[in-house]
Amino acid sequence: MNIPRITIAIDGFSSCGKSTMAKELSRRIGYIYIDSGAMYRAVTLYCLDNGVITNGIIDREALAAAIDKIEITFAAHPITGKQETYLNGVCVEQEIRTMRVSSSVSIVSQVDIVRQALVSQQQALGKNKGIVMDGRDIGTAVFPDAELKIFVTASARVRAERRAAEMQDADIDEIERNIAMRDEMDMTREISPLRKADDAIELDNSHMSIEEQNEWLIQRYREAIARIEMM
Ligand code: C5P
Repeated sequence: MNIPRITIAIDGFSSCGKSTMAKELSRRIGYIYIDSGAMYRAVTLYCLDNGVITNGIIDREALAAAIDKIEITFAAHPITGKQETYLNGVCVEQEIRTMRVSSSVSIVSQVDIVRQALVSQQQALGKNKGIVMDGRDIGTAVFPDAELKIFVTASARVRAERRAAEMQDADIDEIERNIAMRDEMDMTREISPLRKADDAIELDNSHMSIEEQNEWLIQRYREAIARIEMM
């Protein structure tokens, strides 16, 4: 019997290891993986580079005119095989992870037209199921009918330490401040704020190794499949 293909939504706070676990699960089960945060980051980079946002203020008219000109795609790096983000055909994987982008992304992601554009692109990417997507509103707004929803948390300090370990010359206090600021803005914004979907399974991975969280997730996947096969 063919294994049913499902939709997997992984939401949670900034830098809590969602992408790491989502990527590994998608690799193991042969699903598409989409980092929705990378899409918000790419739009933010476009805004910063094209004068749509200056000193933290968004020019809404310029953004409305620009939104249809922003094309975001993903492709595997030819050597490492790692998925990378492209903005209008240019690889921006490194640039979108800089503090310059991190400082403005939660302002840009509050804007209704940005969310509408990206949510509809994300829904199109998942229309055939067989997808793992991580973000803030995947289980609540993008795929409310996802068969498996996970909500990940970890303490702010642990998250800052993990992010710092991935960066060169990281200022851990600055990273922690940025994480706290994004948590606050993501939870309190008007449109699809960060919150746990009622039917999401919560995971606090503060004290888990990467291997442990990967195992935990594959178990949840197997349970979800077993539930569907029993129906
Ligand atoms: O996941 P990551 O930390 O890269 O996301 C960057 C920012 O993008 C978040 O802080 C949030 O403001 C925004 N975002 C969002 N909805 C998503 C994914 C990310 O608003 N589904």
